[in-house]
Amino acid sequence: MIELETKGTLTVNEPVISIDNLTVEYVSPRGVIKAVRGVSLKVYRGETLFIVGESGSGKSTLGLAMLNIVPRPGRIAGGSITYHIDGRNVNILDLPLEDQRAFRWKNVAMVFQSALNSLNPVLRIWDQMYDTIESHDKHISREEVYEKVRRLLYLVRLDPDRVLKAYPHQLSGGMRQRVMIALALLLDPKVLILDEPTTALDLLTQKSIMEVLKNIKKELGLTMIFITHDLSLAAELADRVAVMYAGKLVELGDVYDIFYRPRHPYTFALMKTVPKLTSIDEELYPIPGSPPDMANLPPGCKFHPRCPYATRACSDVEPSEEWLTPSHLVACHRHRDLSLRVEAR
Ligand code: ATP
Ligand code: SF4
Repeated sequence: MIELETKGTLTVNEPVISIDNLTVEYVSPRGVIKAVRGVSLKVYRGETLFIVGESGSGKSTLGLAMLNIVPRPGRIAGGSITYHIDGRNVNILDLPLEDQRAFRWKNVAMVFQSALNSLNPVLRIWDQMYDTIESHDKHISREEVYEKVRRLLYLVRLDPDRVLKAYPHQLSGGMRQRVMIALALLLDPKVLILDEPTTALDLLTQKSIMEVLKNIKKELGLTMIFITHDLSLAAELADRVAVMYAGKLVELGDVYDIFYRPRHPYTFALMKTVPKLTSIDEELYPIPGSPPDMANLPPGCKFHPRCPYATRACSDVEPSEEWLTPSHLVACHRHRDLSLRVEAR
């Protein structure tokens, strides 16, 4: 069930991150996998941006690249990622290695896909939180840490008295996920990146994490970047949505455009996979075909083998990105002559 809650109401357009022509590759026995292919994207201060797409489209790699932590055998092969923070412009790819860790903690934090297993099993939650703050700020008192930690735990709707003395195994999956979110917020980052924050959870827990995330958005006014294939989460929280296919941005726009007036056949197909609010028995439309082999991409538009609107030109030439309006970008040869409409939900 899905309900579009935000209507792309973002009014600020001061970038906090500018990604320019970013390329990330993995060297594998099957050849070079271009997981991110020349992505340019601005993330605006205070917005909630969703990066969506099928598995393997390069979403997580883009998120990891934003922190310059792409693991081997991956490497950033080109482009820049500039943070505009505190009046400074910092390309994180140019920062000396020893400064990167501090820069990340202070400015940008990430809740990883595997967050549920990333708490230290032998430390109580209080010790993990205290150690995290203390290792970055030697001057902070224990009382100050305690106050801050309690505030954050309330924000993620956990009872500090119960949680702080617990070991991770004594908490449910949903509670551990909330602790991870609170941990990511400990050093007041300006940007929070969340990679599939609800995927490993059951439906009820997903719903409660969604409420927590809405609360954070409302209370902290942070810049948040979600990496997910959960479109119902996007409908509830996104200001803007970036759609990735085969390592490229194929469409970018405010949440209303992307959900109701997509201009790219892939976005259109993706939106048709979302159930309507009004119908329980409604037929869903899986996207035909499978995602491309990233080690052996087809020529032309990478979606052409699955696209019902493909023409000869589509299999020959990869479409370039075009701004339809100052806020809506699409990469499709036929965006002018196709009329794609998703019914209101
Ligand atoms: P998912 O939702 O499944 O995480 P994704 O859209 O986040 O998918 P990525 O995980 O970024 O996509 O992967 C993009 C491409 O890079 C895929 O083809 C994937 O197989 C490849 N890839 C990712 N990590 C590695 C790695 N460590 N070694 C080799 N190839 C990798
Ligand atoms: Fe389909 Fe062609 Fe557009 Fe690609 S460029 S999405 S194949 S119509």
